[in-house]
Amino acid sequence: MPIPSIQHQDPPVPFFDQTESFTSLWPLIARHTDDVFDRGKFSHGRKVAELERALAEYTGAKHAVAVNSGTDALVILLRAAGIGPGDEVVVPAFSFFASASSVSMAGATPVFADITTDGDYGLDAASVEAVIGERTRAVLPVHLFSQLADMTALTELARRHGLMVLEDSAEAIGMRWDGTHAGLLGTGGVLSFFPTKTLGALGDAGMVLTNDDEVAEKAGVLRHHGRMGKTIDHIAGISNLSGVSGTNSKMDDVQAAVLLAKLSRLDRDIARRRELADAYTARLRGTDGVLALPRTVPRPVRADPVSYVYLLEVERRDELAAHLAARGIGTETYYPRPLPLQPCYTDEGRNRPGRFPHAEAASERTLALPLYPDLTEEQLETVCATISDFYAGRR
Ligand SMILES: *Cc1c(COP(=O)(O)O)cnc(C)c1O
Repeated sequence: MPIPSIQHQDPPVPFFDQTESFTSLWPLIARHTDDVFDRGKFSHGRKVAELERALAEYTGAKHAVAVNSGTDALVILLRAAGIGPGDEVVVPAFSFFASASSVSMAGATPVFADITTDGDYGLDAASVEAVIGERTRAVLPVHLFSQLADMTALTELARRHGLMVLEDSAEAIGMRWDGTHAGLLGTGGVLSFFPTKTLGALGDAGMVLTNDDEVAEKAGVLRHHGRMGKTIDHIAGISNLSGVSGTNSKMDDVQAAVLLAKLSRLDRDIARRRELADAYTARLRGTDGVLALPRTVPRPVRADPVSYVYLLEVERRDELAAHLAARGIGTETYYPRPLPLQPCYTDEGRNRPGRFPHAEAASERTLALPLYPDLTEEQLETVCATISDFYAGRR
């Protein structure tokens, strides 16, 4: 199969680029996709089953259920765990939109809590405790950027209140807490394989991770109109679950093939991301205008970080982003507006400005810099020099 040409980006430092990686990865991807073409099953087939086994092994999950996106994985996980109308789920005010919208899509209500100021951008246990009520069923910690939220505090809090822990571990492949992979510290979690994620497909794909047999079985039913439990094997007793109305959230085998090829390089990619993140930190420390660099929060247990996003807090964030963009340097604002202040959630009661001071401060100051295995040291230097020039008033 010929190497497809992936369009080269013109700007000196795109926010995300994988042209180089794909050139060398292509023969391996082609071996996996040839397998797909030979079998002629393009959705929910054997490649998908192979990926599920590979990721169950990588993460240590008892069950890995492949679906169409990280967002679908969240909705399906919530529903499989029994969350529905009348239930409340505590969600951080600072996250990607899907952390809250998945709760709404499951028919439940997201109730927001603030994040810590430790540097993990994760749920603050005391803030969670303050919003737990009669209808609260679960806590949904989100693991953002490079490390897990404080899972010791959050799982202990959930246990005390009899709540489930469901993790939005969409960004957290490779991150572990005391040896346990993200997503497996409570009832279940998810992975997103959106192209820019640490393990990214060439399109949308996601996965539910769980050690719970019943949740896995229900997730399998929900992703495929209630028809099959697992990708190829039928689960005995599936008729017990009739009456569940599911959706079509099957994964494409071509995406599974791409992901299997990339999975073989994941550890190398993670090491390279770390090297680049360390280089950014060494270069940017002490730069005027930079309020905070990523920091790994000390934990009572071993916590393995992964540099998925390199996130700065800076003065005059939007001006800096525009300055970088004008010089061909891509950045992203993770996340520009706290979830409770987005139009579909804001209200006269709790979800109004001033109620989530840490999330609100973060959303005004944070900026993600380009970080991916193909980024070169020269590009990294260009980014850092352009940031220094901006704050030094050199244009
Ligand atoms: C990427 C992401 C998702 C959703 O994943 P998609 O595959 O894009 O649907 C959910 N939550 C968080 C925190 C994410 O970063």
